[in-house]
Amino acid sequence: MKILVTGGAGYIGSQTCKALTTAGHQVFIYDNLSTGSRALIKWGEFIQGDILDGERLRACLRAHEPEGIIHCAAFSQVGESLGDPGAYIRNNVGGTLHILEAMRDTGVRNIVVSSTAAVYGIPDHCPITEDMPTHPITPYGETKLFIEWMLADFARASGFSWMALRYFNAAGADPEGECGECHTPETHLIPRMLMAVTGELEEFRIMGNNYPTPDGTCVRDYIHVADLASAHVLAIEHLRNGEPGQGAPLNLGTGIGFSVKQILDAVQQITERQMSYRIGERRPGDPPVLVAEGSRAEEILGWKPSRSRLHTIIEDAWKWHISGRQAVIKAASR
Ligand code: UDP
Repeated sequence: MKILVTGGAGYIGSQTCKALTTAGHQVFIYDNLSTGSRALIKWGEFIQGDILDGERLRACLRAHEPEGIIHCAAFSQVGESLGDPGAYIRNNVGGTLHILEAMRDTGVRNIVVSSTAAVYGIPDHCPITEDMPTHPITPYGETKLFIEWMLADFARASGFSWMALRYFNAAGADPEGECGECHTPETHLIPRMLMAVTGELEEFRIMGNNYPTPDGTCVRDYIHVADLASAHVLAIEHLRNGEPGQGAPLNLGTGIGFSVKQILDAVQQITERQMSYRIGERRPGDPPVLVAEGSRAEEILGWKPSRSRLHTIIEDAWKWHISGRQAVIKAASR
């Protein structure tokens, strides 16, 4: 299959491009390199372009005639979205609208989109099923929920098939060390802890220890990025092979939650290094617990995480942190 991946130079997008190529698909990467890195473009033909540029998108779809789109390009920092909601609405909602209209105008029928557990807001209970109410509490989560509604609207109007993959906490790095996480600024838990054990970060801050959880720190469901990537491959293949006009949101998680403190202990144990840390304020927009009920993805796609044991996630992230990640940082500073 020919597949266009927006945001293919990012953390999850690049891993997905690798998985698609490995599965025998032909990949086109559409990315504006605003947060992605040229050093992560290794699997596919690169087209530099913005998702807000509808004309360029249309030209690109006409030129390459993909059978499907995997849409990962988005702003994805919860905190940033609280400070600048307009940027998130413009880029995430507006950009997706351009993609859907370009698909409609060029006859592309299948789309898999990055969504997020943030659409659930603060759930009544965990694990979370896809049918539970969606009440996002941040602009980031709102944009992703609205995108899911847009998919359903375009599916009805134009016969698209779609899947929205609601990632829980993406973590880890490519098992072969060929791609991984490198955000600027880095806000995510595991990379920040790794920065703390190497001294890149003077002190790690636990953001709140008074949550209603067993040890007071937030609980999350960490899912290996290679498992996320394989779900994208299965999802786009499923849409291509299935009836037109189908659509569904799918949770991608393990069903197991770990607290910030548990992650801290595991990072220190696996890296065999200590970090200095202190307890700080809660971070706005953080629900206490997010854990997925993931059986729908297994039922529909036959997807099961295979690399998402916490130990493996941290080991892969650590290997990436001390080796491959440096190449991405160097490329960015050039
Ligand atoms: N967190 C923390 N210190 C940090 C970064 C994150 O205590 O320096 C906590 C954060 O409050 C949340 C969890 O770690 O409870 C996971 O945060 P992350 O940003 O990795 O992912 P999110 O859950 O926001 O998608």
